[in-house]
Amino acid sequence: IIAELVAAEKDHTMGELAASIAHEVRNPLTVVKGFIQLLAEDKSQAEYHKLILSELDRAESIIYEYLNASKPQENSVISLDNCVEQVVSLLAPYAEKNGVLLDSSIKPSIQINSNENKLKQALINFVKNAIEATPDQGSVTVLLKATKDKTIIEIKDTGSGMTKEQLKQLGTAYFTTKESGTGIGTMVSIRMIEMMDGTVTYKSAITKGTKVEVVLPRVKS
Ligand code: ADP
Ligand code: MG
Repeated sequence: IIAELVAAEKDHTMGELAASIAHEVRNPLTVVKGFIQLLAEDKSQAEYHKLILSELDRAESIIYEYLNASKPQENSVISLDNCVEQVVSLLAPYAEKNGVLLDSSIKPSIQINSNENKLKQALINFVKNAIEATPDQGSVTVLLKATKDKTIIEIKDTGSGMTKEQLKQLGTAYFTTKESGTGIGTMVSIRMIEMMDGTVTYKSAITKGTKVEVVLPRVKS
């Protein structure tokens, strides 16, 4: 798998990352193996089950968030409004489960030149983080706007916000403030958007919330 990842990856630093992430994936799997062995001997199994599942979730997230990013990129003209709408629908149940109101305002008929899977993956990560940062009763709003040559996707939450220190670390490998977080999603998402000639900008105020602005070029017609 590592050899394939590296071969598929044109970007040198992403190739190096593949090796270090593969190493990182081994840790939770080793922990799971240990607990499975203990299960055979011990009676207090509930706690072990919890740990096993949480470590498996972590391994799954790392692989999922990273593998999507390392596949070779194929661009085509896609409908950005459809793409954003699908991301919002996909995460609606997750928002509901977290007691978060997920709202959207999407300008129709915007074409861009991009890779649909990667763009969706990046947007899923941004919206998922917004939901996870937002307390019960809070809200996450996704906006899609366009100018003559640019498209802007805005993901705004009324969540925890980030300190200056946290904002500085955001987008670096393994930075997470979550108990079973991976610290990979944001880094990979920003990189994917940059590979589409786009930019990602964060504005955040502690306890007030965060706004992520994703800017992508429009198709020249
Ligand atoms: P993970 O979600 O697994 O922690 P990410 O790379 O997706 O990893 O995010 C890294 C960290 O950035 C999060 O743990 C969180 O502290 C911070 N973060 C990202 N998005 C937001 C947001 N919208 N509001 C507050 N904090 C955020
Ligand atoms: Mg995340």
